[in-house]
Amino acid sequence: MEIFHSPKELKDFLKDKNKTIGFVPTMGALHDGHISLFKKARSENEIVVASVFLNPTQFGENEDLDKYPRNDERDIRIARICEVDALFMPKPEEIYDKNEPLIKAPEKLATILEGKTRPGHFDGVLRVLNKLFNIVKPTKAYFGKKDTQQLAIVENMVRTFFMDIEIVPCDIIRESDGLAISSRNAYLSEEDKLYALKISQSLAKAGAMIKKGELSTNSIKTQMLSILEPLEIDYVAITNRRFEPLDKIELDNTFILVAANVGQTRLIDNLWV
Ligand code: AMP
Repeated sequence: MEIFHSPKELKDFLKDKNKTIGFVPTMGALHDGHISLFKKARSENEIVVASVFLNPTQFGENEDLDKYPRNDERDIRIARICEVDALFMPKPEEIYDKNEPLIKAPEKLATILEGKTRPGHFDGVLRVLNKLFNIVKPTKAYFGKKDTQQLAIVENMVRTFFMDIEIVPCDIIRESDGLAISSRNAYLSEEDKLYALKISQSLAKAGAMIKKGELSTNSIKTQMLSILEPLEIDYVAITNRRFEPLDKIELDNTFILVAANVGQTRLIDNLWV
């Protein structure tokens, strides 16, 4: 595995290779969720590129950029074990210029749910991905369903900007108890984790109710809220695949999305129905 710090070095490495490139963008603190994306990329492409870049522009002023877990050495070991060919670890100065055009995520998708609590977050996500896609020029790029709204906003950019990239959605990887794996889980104490578990439990309850034939989103939400009650809930939303609220579950066209704070840690999870 080769490690690159500058866009130019990585571009030179990839130039004229004429091979399919699978790309996995991450913010580091790699875990089993990231590893599943690396493995999928490895199985579908001739070259696998991963990035570890803690992107400052997607964090709000009062968010956790400064305390976000970092462990470059461990990340390098994990990427190597996963047979990543090129690991891109740039510094913000290598990516951003004081004078550059800014991309804005579409308002309808980016000011609800995550975007409502984190204004500007998706602008920062698209700003960095636009650059990373230009540097790597991937055939396919891999994104977790863990961040469903991000996935939709990236798909929208690729489609509307006529980018020749296939976006590959990847299933959520969970701990054996159901907790969706996240770099931010590192902030949780053992006690916090018991609270955090209520998020996946509420989604499991929703799934079980739907399996039994319950389609009223009000009834499902009520049950979910009773499980989530001990947490500081940001939102519980039941929407169609365009993130529009639903009265009745539509099979194969529904997202159930939760965001909640456990202590100082903001966690998200979701279920595709
Ligand atoms: P991050 O480093 O948090 O920006 O995540 C990088 C990529 O990994 C994103 O596409 C995430 O959706 C994905 N990801 C994070 N956690 C998981 C998980 N538990 N299962 C699947 N994908 C994940």
